[in-house]
Order: sequence, then C-alpha cells, then structure tokens
Amino acid sequence: ATRSRSPQPFHDSAFVRVRGAREHNLKDVDVAIPRDAFVVFSGVSGSGKSSLAFGTLFAEAQRRYLESLSPYARRLIDQVGVPDVDEIQGLPPAVALQQQRGTPNVRSTVGSVTTLSSLLRMLYSRAGTYPTQQPMLYAEDFSPNTPQGACPNCHGLGFVYEVTERSMVPDPSLSIRDRAIASWPPAWHGQNLRDILVTLGYDVDIPWRDLPKKDRDWILYTEEQPVAPVYAGMTPAQTRAALRRKAEPSYMGTFTGARRYVLHTFATTQSALMKKRVARFMTGAACPVCDGRRLKPEALSVTFAGLDIGSLSRLSLNAIAQTLAPAAAGRFDAPAAGATRSRAASRNDTARRVARGGSAHAGGTDVRRTPDLSQEKRIAAQRIAHDLVERIAALQALGLGYLALDRTTPTLSPGELQRLRLATQIRSNLFGVVYVLDEPSAGLHPADSEALHRALDQLKGTGNSVFVVEHDLDMMRRADWIVDVGPGAGQEGGEVLYSGPPDGLRAVAASQTARYLFDGRSRSHDHARRTPAGWLELHGVHRNNLHGVDARIPLGVLTAVTGVSGSGKSSLISQALIELMGAHLGHEPEAEPDDDGPPQPGELRTTSGRLGRGADTIKRLVNVDQKPIGRTPRSNLATYTGLFDPVRKLFAQTPLAKSRRYDAGRFSFNVAKGRCATCEGEGFVQVELLFMPTVYAPCPTCHGRRYNEKTLEVTWRERNIAEVLAMTVAEALAFFHDEDSIARPLTVLRDIGLGYLRLGQPATELSGGEAQRIKLATELHRSQRGHTLYVLDEPTTGLHAADVDKLMAQLHGLVDGGHTVVVIEHEMRVVADSDWVIDLGPGAGEEGGSIVAAGTPEDVARAKPSRTAPYLKRALA
Ligand code: ADP
Ligand code: ADP
Ligand code: ZN
Ligand code: ZN
Repeated sequence: ATRSRSPQPFHDSAFVRVRGAREHNLKDVDVAIPRDAFVVFSGVSGSGKSSLAFGTLFAEAQRRYLESLSPYARRLIDQVGVPDVDEIQGLPPAVALQQQRGTPNVRSTVGSVTTLSSLLRMLYSRAGTYPTQQPMLYAEDFSPNTPQGACPNCHGLGFVYEVTERSMVPDPSLSIRDRAIASWPPAWHGQNLRDILVTLGYDVDIPWRDLPKKDRDWILYTEEQPVAPVYAGMTPAQTRAALRRKAEPSYMGTFTGARRYVLHTFATTQSALMKKRVARFMTGAACPVCDGRRLKPEALSVTFAGLDIGSLSRLSLNAIAQTLAPAAAGRFDAPAAGATRSRAASRNDTARRVARGGSAHAGGTDVRRTPDLSQEKRIAAQRIAHDLVERIAALQALGLGYLALDRTTPTLSPGELQRLRLATQIRSNLFGVVYVLDEPSAGLHPADSEALHRALDQLKGTGNSVFVVEHDLDMMRRADWIVDVGPGAGQEGGEVLYSGPPDGLRAVAASQTARYLFDGRSRSHDHARRTPAGWLELHGVHRNNLHGVDARIPLGVLTAVTGVSGSGKSSLISQALIELMGAHLGHEPEAEPDDDGPPQPGELRTTSGRLGRGADTIKRLVNVDQKPIGRTPRSNLATYTGLFDPVRKLFAQTPLAKSRRYDAGRFSFNVAKGRCATCEGEGFVQVELLFMPTVYAPCPTCHGRRYNEKTLEVTWRERNIAEVLAMTVAEALAFFHDEDSIARPLTVLRDIGLGYLRLGQPATELSGGEAQRIKLATELHRSQRGHTLYVLDEPTTGLHAADVDKLMAQLHGLVDGGHTVVVIEHEMRVVADSDWVIDLGPGAGEEGGSIVAAGTPEDVARAKPSRTAPYLKRALA
C-alpha cells in the first residue's frame, strides 16, 4: 500500500526499501525511505509509526547484527523475535535512542551516562595536584563505586543515615500509650513493645517530654534487647502486682530500641512498603569523613584547578566547563575560575558562584592553583581537559548545561536522558549508521529546539541517517522526508499514507498530519477565556533552583506553566506545589509497593515554603504523572482502570460458568484456579539474557492467552475472556455498548485518544504518556466531588496534534466542572489555549528559577524578558 512519490533529490540506490511489513498493526506495508537524510515518521498515536521505525527497521538491523556474532547470539534472536517483514534492502546498522519506558533502575548519573566521569577520573589520576609524598593514584581510586575509591565510612554513599528523637517522636506531648513513638511498628508488635516497657517499670501514660532524658534515650537508642514477661491486657498497676506475685505471664517478649528497629527493618525487610515506612523516620546527613563527597581521603586530597574531584562533580556542566577552560587552552598560570575551595562552602553556594563566573576570591581561604604542574602533566591535562570541554559543549548545545554531573538519571525526565545520549553519540564519530529516535522534542521548550535541530543536522552531516518518530510540527517542516502513517490508530491505521518530501503531504486528504501541518490551525480549542474564581498563593518556596519564590495560581481555570528546560517548572509545580498541597490535605507520603531501590535521604527532603490564601478552597489534589502504572505484565489497562471487574462478573453469570460454579475470580489471571499454570497468568515467561535487559517471551503453554483451557471454554457473546483482553478499547466499546459499567470507562479512554490500546496491554508496553492518559481517564470517569486541583506534567508528550485536541477537550471539561487544572507544557498551541500562563526563567538552572511573566496568554506574549513570548505570540496569531 505504498504511495512513494518520485524521490527526486535522492539517488535511487540510497534508499532503505521495506517490503511486506506486518509488525503489530502494519498492513503489509511497502515503503522506500532515503538514507543520509533526516526523516520524520508522523501519524496519530497508535497509527504504527513506532512499529515501522523501531519494531521493523531497528529490530531488523539489530537482528542482523546479532546474527553476525555467534551461534549463542543467534539463539537470542529466537527468543527476542524477528520482525514480521518480507524483505528490507539497503538497511545500514542502526542505533536506537529510545525514551526509557518506566524508570531506569540503575543508579547511574549524568557523568556515567555521558562517560564524562571516567574522563575526569583520568584527569585527576594523571594530571592532578598531589600532596607531597603521596603516590599517584589510579583512575579507579577516584570512583566512589569501586572498593578502592569509596569512602570507608559511608561506602561511597556520601551520607549516613540518622534516626533522631525528633524524627521518631514528632509530637512529644503524647504519651507512649498514645503512640508518641511514631516509628514503632504498627499493630500488635507496637503494643508488645509498650507492654514490655510497662513490665520494665517505665511510665507509658505521661507525656513523652515529661519522661527523664535518661529513660527517653534508653527507649529510643538502646542496643540491648532485654527479654521480659508480658502481661497482655493488664493495666500498669495490675502488671506490677502480677510481677510481685510472680504470676505466669502471657508470654516472654523481646524489647528492641526504636532506632535499632528502624535501621534493622530498613536494612533487612523484603517489603518495599515497610522500607518506605521506616525510611520516613530516617534523615540523611552528609558523611562526616568525606563531607558527602563519597571518596576516600587520599582521593580527595588530589586537586585540579583547586578543586577535588568530589567537589567538582557536584557542579553543573556549565561550571565544570568554565573551570576546565584555562587548562584546555593550555593556560596554567592564571587562577582558574572557581579555583578556591572553601570547605565550608555548601554545594549550592559553590555551584552558584562558579555558574555565574563570579570571582573566586573568598577572602583568606586556602587558594590552590595549578601552576605547579610538571610539563608532562600539563600536556596530559590539556589534552584531557580539552576533550572534556568539547564533550560538555555538545551537551550545552542541547540545552543541558544546567545539569550537575552527579545528578542521578532517575531524577531526569525521559527527554533529558535521551538528549544526554544523543549528545554522547554526536561525539562518537560513527558514520553510515541509522539513528532511530523517539520524540526527541519531548520536554524541550521551542527556544531550546534550535540546538536539537543542529545536533540532528550534525549527525546527518557526518554521514548518518536520522529517523525520528515525532509529533512536533516544526520538526516535520524541517525534515528532508516524511513518512506519514495512518489514517487512524490500531486497526484503523497501519498504512503508509505518504512517503516523500514534506510539501507533498499537503495533497494527501486522508492525512490528519496534513491538516495541522498546512492549515495553520493554531488554537486547539475555541472558547472564551475564563476569569479566575480566586487564587492559591505560594510563599517563599525553596526547592532546587527556586530561592524564595512567591507564586499565585488562579483557581477554576486552566493554567499553563512554561519556561525553558531546567527553568524550574517541575520544581515549582510537580514538587513544591504537590508537596505543600499534599501536606495541607493530610496526604501520606506516596507509598509505591514496587518502587525501585531504597529511598535516599536526598529524596526524602521536602520543600520549604508555605501556602497562603486559597488553599482551603481545594478539597482534593490529583497529580497525573507519567510514572508507570505497573512494572510487570500483570497490571494492564483493564485491571488498572477497574473495568475488568464488571467484565469478569459478566462471564461468571453465563449459564456455562454457573453450571460449573465458576465465580468472577475464575476469570482473573491473578487467581490460580482459572489461569495458565505454566506462566501463572502472565502470558509471558521471562527470558534472562546475558548482555541485554530481561525480555518477555510468549508462554509456550497458553501462547499468551493467560488462562487454562477450561476457563477459555466459557464465552460471552461468543468471545472468551482472552479474546476480550485482546480487543482494543474501540473494539471493546462496540462489543460492550449496552453494558453501562463497562462502556462508560471505555468511552472516556476512547475520547482521550486511547482507543487503539488493547484491554490486556501489559503495563510494561505502555509509554509514560500513555500511562498518564490512562490515569487521567480513570480519574475522569470517577465522580468528582469537591473542588479538585489537577496537576499534569507535559501531558502532550507522545501525542499527535489531533490527539492533543482530544486531551484539551477533556481538560477544559474538568475546568467547566468547577475544578482547577495546571499543566506544565511546551506545546504552544496548548499554552495559547489556556486561561492563564506562568512563565519561569529566564534561563535554566541558577539562571532561571524566577517567575518572568504571568497573565493571560496575550499578556505573556507581550512580556519582554520572556523567552516563551515570541513563540506564544506566533501561536496566538
Ligand atoms: P505509534 O508509534 O504510531 O503511536 P505503535 O506503532 O506504537 O503506534 O502502535 C501501533 C499499534 O500496534 C497499536 O494498535 C498498538 O496498540 C499496537 N502495539 C504496539 N506495541 C505492541 C506490542 N508490543 N504488541 C502488540 N501490539 C502492539
Ligand atoms: P524544568 O521543569 O523547568 O525543566 P526543573 O524544575 O526540573 O526544571 O529543574 C530546575 C533546576 O533544578 C535545574 O537546575 C535542575 O537541574 C534542578 N533539579 C530538578 N530536579 C532535581 C533533582 N531531583 N535533584 C537535583 N536537582 C534537580
Ligand atoms: Zn563518606
Ligand atoms: Zn501461559
């Protein structure tokens, strides 16, 4: 079904030719795509863009690569699968820069992803200034992740856990009986500890603060574990009497100090929930030995440009480049920028001072410079520093200079992470490769996208092909070639509507992309601007790069929060607002049962600031984030939204199910009786691969159907339960149209642009944007009582302009229902369509963090200092 236009500017031989592609929803597609070109794959969400770009082209390139390796690697191919395509000609090797689905669970950092950290270690090892008498160290001695480099006190963590009286006893006016010791285990175990204290003669009925300090310290901090008789259910007086007459106790109990309980549980529990619970009572304090710098003292005694490697790694990339610039240029005589190290200077002070290029003369502190380097060291220093500065420049060009080198990747947005990898690739000097990217514009302010275009041009310029799956209209306008997939999603898509230079798409009537690309439809939704019903005030907010910000959020309207990447949008909205409002409404800190890794004290830190007027108007807070809805194939769309319950009830009510006494549980793949015994209802078996992430392969017994044969004999309207889970939302809506409790949530899912998802689609296959829209849909079909504040971080990620319109209709519906909606957004059509705009900036990191403009979209479009203004103005025209 190809309609490739004559490929004039490209040589006939320079094409990748695909014949008979049938991966996922692709309908036996033939298409020719030029090499050495910048190609955009467009189409509504679910149309099949990724199935073509990643599922077919990249998958085939990867398969050929594996096949060229070894017989062992060839076995892997059988397990990961071969793309469903007849033939691909002219396909170069491919590198995928895909956005991470779910959260990366490794504790990697900006420095490790970009390999800058290893270069820095080499710099310090070979060209650092060593104290006299100290032998030179190896590069590994500068890594906190190796036994030879790590600080011996904190094992390279940089902090030590502390449990204090204040954290364990938040309200000292309570008695022990009234649970003064909040960190004690809940329920029976807590009562047991209290009863032991009674036996031991402590007063558990007076306020905590009235107990003698010696007693409080023992109860909290003792390492002893005395065993004592427990008289359950007796009053203290009765207990004393029982002890005197040596009565038989209910049992013998073992006492554990409160601190010991917290630390022991944290270290040993298998339950993530328990871990999270006790972590709330722990605070992290900088390790006193390494001062949070994670390295052993010998490594920290080596400096370059006056800074030890631990202090340098805490700086932003901008500041590091500035510090290394003189050495990179071969200048070792002048004091380097930021060449002063004051041990007292806090991380932020140092960062800010250096970031602003401020003078480095902190009066009187020990000023060390680099001029004492030997000639040999200078040569090494210049070469490595030069390389570092150049690599950092590639990152700065992509608008990432504000990131600190030691920032962990789970705290980065998927877009930031992808751009980090992109910048690293630009420096890798590969050529003749196809780079396949997934929405590189995600998370990027239009002012930052120039740099992205340059980076992609650079990849192409060095002889590579760049294939991107994109929704950004500007990106499409700049493409050499567009492959438009559609016309609809899922079964209604899967065809190549057009393949050729962008201009030719204009004539393709069936293309939804063409409508937006050429009709200049700017506003996504037409309605009169609403006036705020009141204001929610935030005062003196401190968080990341926000230093005492005051903000006003209008109530009862739709607000867009804008600003370049790193300006502080998430810090203000997703972090400060969510935390302050959450605390005001008395929310418990979120407990996520399948969260990865232990919580770090750094993540437990809270915002400072307070809510002012308006906070009491809001009754509920809903944060619709992009976190995955589950991490195993066991959670899926149907279970998460709750629509699977009424479906299972329908099956249980069929005559066959009744005659066999099958209840609704029989139709759950989480219950043993009805599910496939081999895969325990997952439909997949896990395959562990040596050099690759774990993959899931279809179950050999049920072939992905999840249920056992007996269960599948039961049908409702001639479909069994596995066939229902295989339906898309749109198909299921037609099938269940007269079952209100099922049709209602399905309708919302379809209206929000998710009609193409299958009901049983495992959570592991969903993108962050899809997870976010599923959460929103689930929220929308619940009845909403009371004024709710909805917060969404870049909800248009992964959405075609046509789907953005659907989403906006839903958000406007919420506002019309009397609620408040705040979205962080880069898409100017959405910003133009909001009632109010708050623009942060002016720049990123320490050059941002202020509210530059706030008002109606028209007001902000006129604001002089706003970097958003020119783009917004264009969208309003
Ligand atoms: P796009 O990239 O255009 O948003 P996709 O290529 O991701 O679309 O999806 C096209 C169709 O294929 C959709 O109906 C989607 O539900 C389906 N699909 C995507 N991934 C899988 C998968 N792993 N298994 C089965 N179907 C899938
Ligand atoms: P935006 O949302 O506008 O892209 P952010 O609020 O994410 O900006 O970032 C503002 C500043 O705060 C940046 O300098 C960023 O590096 C820093 N920052 C954001 N989140 C974290 C975090 N979890 N840990 C450390 N620094 C952070
Ligand atoms: Zn330490
Ligand atoms: Zn199975």
